[in-house]
Amino acid sequence: MEIKTISTIVTIAEVEKCIALLEKDYTDLDVVIEIHTKKSIEREKTSSKPDLSKGEYITILRGSTKTGVYVHTLKKIKSFPFNYKYNKSEYNEHELPFNDLIRYNIIFNLFHELRHAWQYQNNKSEYLKSKSEDPALDLMAYYSSPFEEDADKFEIEQRNKHAKAINEILKIKSSAFPVYQSYQDNLNSLKQ
Ligand SMILES: [Zn+2]
Repeated sequence: MEIKTISTIVTIAEVEKCIALLEKDYTDLDVVIEIHTKKSIEREKTSSKPDLSKGEYITILRGSTKTGVYVHTLKKIKSFPFNYKYNKSEYNEHELPFNDLIRYNIIFNLFHELRHAWQYQNNKSEYLKSKSEDPALDLMAYYSSPFEEDADKFEIEQRNKHAKAINEILKIKSSAFPVYQSYQDNLNSLKQ
């Protein structure tokens, strides 16, 4: 596993330590992790060999809710921290600086994307066959597919299991954790 941080919001050491909390199945995955800035994604979009499709770059740069992706053909996880939105209720409930909320969420999203890497690298067809090719076409179906449900479930489990350790690694004083956006929350927000 290789970790590259273009964004300064988390350090390589912090990401490494948080991922090391997971089981060997995940720490041993063949994957490159990149934590991006909006600028680095803009640069990538116009490079001669971009990692994503033109449409994906447009969606990400337009300020969508897309905060990470696993590109299985390249064995890469790409994280987009600049797409986390300030959420007033979340902020008030936990009284956490917005920056800390983003730092937490980067780690949780990496857990989620690592589960997708695990699904692919272990050929878990029961999940893979349910993956929607173009989530933009039917977001509701996308979030409720076994592919996404499984990654969400893993993310919640690991987050609850390692809450205290993650707090210590990220040096966040409050013991509070941000409200988790479960797939059900995602569905509800889409209905509104
Ligand atoms: Zn996912």
